[in-house]
Amino acid sequence: MKSAIYPGSFDPITFGHLDIIRRAASVFDTLYVSVLNNSAKSSLFLVDERVNMIKDVTSDLDNVIVESFGGLTLEYALERNVDVLVRGLRAVSDFEYELQIAQTNREFSDDKVDTLFFITSLEYAYLSSSVVREMASYGKDISRCVPEAVAMKVYEKYGISPGEVLNIRGE
Ligand code: ADP
Repeated sequence: MKSAIYPGSFDPITFGHLDIIRRAASVFDTLYVSVLNNSAKSSLFLVDERVNMIKDVTSDLDNVIVESFGGLTLEYALERNVDVLVRGLRAVSDFEYELQIAQTNREFSDDKVDTLFFITSLEYAYLSSSVVREMASYGKDISRCVPEAVAMKVYEKYGISPGEVLNIRGE
């Protein structure tokens, strides 16, 4: 049984993340989608809210386990006895950041924990949680970025009612 962990902020989960989750879940027997509880970083959603949204939109995937963790991703992986981390790559800027983290995790785990990268699908190459937050905060239609249930929760955070969202879509 081969397991992997896909760690991230997921604030909120996007179609880009979901694409990586589906692809990774088809490669591994078990995929942990793990929300980092980082109190130093301000976020739109509470960790539990993020976990529940991810559970909701991955409920059709039997081998996906959604949970949160605190502290070092490396320690969490060793605790779970998982030696593969999954990350997504969109651009060269992602690569520079990810390269150092992946090498650090490998070095500090005595080569035990390795990182496997999935390249973004073309249609989601521009997509990030911060793009979603920014566009939603200005009342833009984010239905191309996140599942409907997630979009509703994002608008709620910005005090935008479902009626206003419908108007934004021109429906
Ligand atoms: P973090 O704050 O840890 O970067 P994110 O939630 O922003 O967490 O992203 C988690 C992982 O998903 C990262 O590896 C990121 O590069 C990847 N990712 C985010 N958006 C996309 C996307 N549109 N396509 C592919 N990978 C993505």
